[in-house]
Amino acid sequence: MKQVSYHADEQGFYGEFGGAFIPEMLYPNTEELRKSYLEITSRPEFQKEFKALLKDYVGRPTPLFYASRLSEKYQTKIYLKREDLCHTGAHKVNNTIGQILLAKALGKKRIIAETGAGQHGVATATVCALMGIECVVYMGALDIKRQAPNVARMKLLGATVRAAESGSKTLKDATNEAIRDWINNPVDTHYIIGSVVGPHPYPDMVARFQSVISEEIGSQLMEKEGRELPDYVIACVGGGSNAAGIYYHYLDRPEVKLVAVEAAGKGVDSGHSAATSALGKVGIIHGSKTLLMQTGDGQITEPYSISAGLDYPGVGPMHAHLFTSKRAQFISITDEKAMEAGRELAALEGIIPAIETSHAFAVFETLKCKKEDVVVVNLSGRGDKDLQTYIDYFEL
Ligand SMILES: *Cc1c(COP(=O)(O)O)cnc(C)c1O
Repeated sequence: MKQVSYHADEQGFYGEFGGAFIPEMLYPNTEELRKSYLEITSRPEFQKEFKALLKDYVGRPTPLFYASRLSEKYQTKIYLKREDLCHTGAHKVNNTIGQILLAKALGKKRIIAETGAGQHGVATATVCALMGIECVVYMGALDIKRQAPNVARMKLLGATVRAAESGSKTLKDATNEAIRDWINNPVDTHYIIGSVVGPHPYPDMVARFQSVISEEIGSQLMEKEGRELPDYVIACVGGGSNAAGIYYHYLDRPEVKLVAVEAAGKGVDSGHSAATSALGKVGIIHGSKTLLMQTGDGQITEPYSISAGLDYPGVGPMHAHLFTSKRAQFISITDEKAMEAGRELAALEGIIPAIETSHAFAVFETLKCKKEDVVVVNLSGRGDKDLQTYIDYFEL
C-alpha cells in the first residue's frame, strides 16, 4: 500500500485538494514563488534571521502552560500553547515574519495583503514597518466601518488601507482587489496571504512558517511529561493556519489525535454558520481546490460566526484532506458554547482568549478525554480585540 502523507506533494496537493487553479495572468507570480520558496527558506541565513526575529521580536518560544483548574474540571491534563503572548496578540505574525523575509530575498519592494477583520492586515503592516517596506492592505468597505480599531492600527503602522467597494464589500471583494493589484505589479510586489489558503505554494508555505508552534511543543512536553507526543492536539479552524502549525509535526504520527474546531455560528443548520466541513462541498476558492460552502449552482455562501477570524466560507486544502481522510476529527461549536467557554477560561485560568480561540475550549464535553491523556490546546490569540463583543454578549 502507498504510504499516506498528510503533507503537500510537489504540486501542492493534499490528496485531491489544493493545487493552483488560477488565471493565466497570475502564473508568473505564483511560479516565481513555487520555484523559490523551499530553496530560499532552507538557506541557513534565512533560517538564522527567521529564528532571531521569532525570538527577539515575536517573543518565542511561547510557553506551554499546564492549566490546572481547567484540567481538574474536565478530568484530563490540559496544556495551553500560548500563541496569545506573541507580539500583536496571535499566531498570525509567525507567518508574516516568514513571508516578509521571503519577499526581501526575492528583491520585492512592496507588499500587498487582504484582510477581513483586520488581524492579518495588522500582522502584515507590523512586519512592513519593521522592514521599512511599503504596505497596501485591501479591505472591504463594510469591514473598514466594522473594524475601526484595526484600521487605525494599520494606519499608525504606516500602511495604506484601500477600500474594496464592489460586491458585499467584505473579504472576498478585498481578495479580488488584491489579486488585481498583484497581476498588475508582478515584479516588485509580494502578496502576503494570511492563512493556509490560496494557490500552491501558499498553503504549504504558511503551514511551514506556522510549524514553529508544534516544533516547540516536543521539548516542552518532554520537560513536563517526559514524552514528546501529546494524545490530543486541539485548534480552532478559520482558514486553518494555527491548526496547521500545531498539527504539523504530528501529521504523520497517527497516535496523536488531531481535533479541528469550526464555528457553527447560530447552529450548523441555521443558515448562519461557518462550519465548512459539515456544510461544504468540493469547489475552488482563492485558487485552491477545497471544501467550501456554496449554493447548488456553485455560488459561495456568506458565512457567519460571532468571531470574525472564523467567518470564512472555506478551509485550507490540508484541512479538507484531514477531514475527508478522517485523520482529524472535526467538531463545530455554536457562538453560545464558544462564548461560555471563553468566559470559563477567563474565570478558571485568568486568561481571556480571542473568541476564535474560545471555540477550541468548548469541545471537552464532546471529546471525553481520559484522566491520564495529555491534551494540548492552541491558544491562538488574546481577547483584547474582542472585549466589546464580550461586553455586549454578557451585558458586563
Ligand atoms: C485569524 C485567527 C484565527 C483563524 O485563522 P486560522 O488561519 O484558522 O488560524 C484563529 N484565532 C485567532 C486568534 C485569529 O486571529
